[in-house]
Amino acid sequence: MTVVVLLGAPGAGKGTQADILANRLGIPHVATGDLFRTAVRDGSPVGLEARRYMERGRLVPDDITIRMLLDRLVQRDAGNGVILDGFPRNRPQAQALDAALAERGSRVDRAISIEVPSDELVRRLSGRWVCKASGHVYNEQSNPPRVKGRCDLDGSPLFQREDDEAGTIRARLALQLSSLRDVVGYYHDIDVLRIVNGVQPIDDVTAALLAALSDDAAV
Ligand SMILES: [Zn+2]
Repeated sequence: MTVVVLLGAPGAGKGTQADILANRLGIPHVATGDLFRTAVRDGSPVGLEARRYMERGRLVPDDITIRMLLDRLVQRDAGNGVILDGFPRNRPQAQALDAALAERGSRVDRAISIEVPSDELVRRLSGRWVCKASGHVYNEQSNPPRVKGRCDLDGSPLFQREDDEAGTIRARLALQLSSLRDVVGYYHDIDVLRIVNGVQPIDDVTAALLAALSDDAAV
């Protein structure tokens, strides 16, 4: 089983690439946000615990998130591995994940950071438009709708969320980048890190990620 952690700031294309890699490699893309929603929807014991925090607008504690992840890792489709997206977000989480995986004789085999300069991230994020009906996401630069202001899929109007405006984005990004650097540093220290340039066409980023995954030099 291969455990891959995909790292990158919002706007770096991490979710898109995780989906592409999952398809290419035949292993699931496990995004923490989806994991929460599924566990809550299915009413699993750990999901119910998570819901108690989410309902109060609080962060789900790391041990609950890790239990959810471990439950996910033993599902049949994850037999050959997983691509983790959205966790860990800081060094203590990375350490806790390692400890939990080690108990099962597993480990993070590869962490890949998709790097994009922060000015470019702000540019990408502030071009983000969301459809009112279903939350389909568009981007002025990289993924514009066919008709300006309308969702391609359902025709509903597109709007820009308040937290997608440049000033807010810049402030939020600074915090996220600081935790991200910490996680990247952690994986560098344990010799499983690769860095991929996120400022290139989507296909080239995918090719670089695949190369980073098959390169066993540091393992
Ligand atoms: Zn839509």
